[in-house]
Amino acid sequence: MRIRDMNWSQVEARVAGDDRCVLPIGSVEQHAYLSLATDMILAEKVSVEAAEPLGVPVYPCLPFGMASSFAAYPGTISITLRSYIGVIEDILDSLHRGGFRRILIVNGHGGNTPVNPLLSEWMNRHPDSSVKLHDWWRAPATMAKVLETDAQASHASWMENFPWTRIEGAPIPNTVKQRIDFAAVGRVDALRKRERIGEGNYHGRFQRPDDEMAAIWQVAVEETRREIAEGWH
Ligand SMILES: [Zn+2]
Repeated sequence: MRIRDMNWSQVEARVAGDDRCVLPIGSVEQHAYLSLATDMILAEKVSVEAAEPLGVPVYPCLPFGMASSFAAYPGTISITLRSYIGVIEDILDSLHRGGFRRILIVNGHGGNTPVNPLLSEWMNRHPDSSVKLHDWWRAPATMAKVLETDAQASHASWMENFPWTRIEGAPIPNTVKQRIDFAAVGRVDALRKRERIGEGNYHGRFQRPDDEMAAIWQVAVEETRREIAEGWH
């Protein structure tokens, strides 16, 4: 259930019997020919579909994340590490104040994983709580399904190309991108990163058939649902 479809007293009543909630976090950053909002679209959609049969509230996705690597691509927004940690901490404090004690953060962007030490510190200050960071696309079952489909998969490649991340009217090449030189990209600033990455795909095809994507999506929803249902405290 989306939190936007609840009022505060319904939340108050719900947490009295079930203190779980889901917070999707994403990024607005270049995704080659796909939507700039790909990471937030996918994190929120997988969360909503996973939580639906359980009735667990899902917050709107925190759209912006840490995307400094893509700062030279127009449309990208990057929150600094310093600010991001503060925002996540404020959100966790708010959720805790509202009665939530089991919080699943569904992350759609690899660049956001530096929040992990914060979560560890935050739980030390809130030992009554359990917080999990679920990188939905590289959780074991989902990544196994991706690799079984096509081992060449990466940021902005086919693996993020779903009907709900495509841009109407934006053509997508039917080619295979050669793997970028990750070390060469890692050691330079955003403008030179852009020159070395090109259109934005790190490696692999740009698209695969919809039935293959639907099969991956189903695994991802089920795996995310298990994270909401099990493995707390
Ligand atoms: Zn992405």
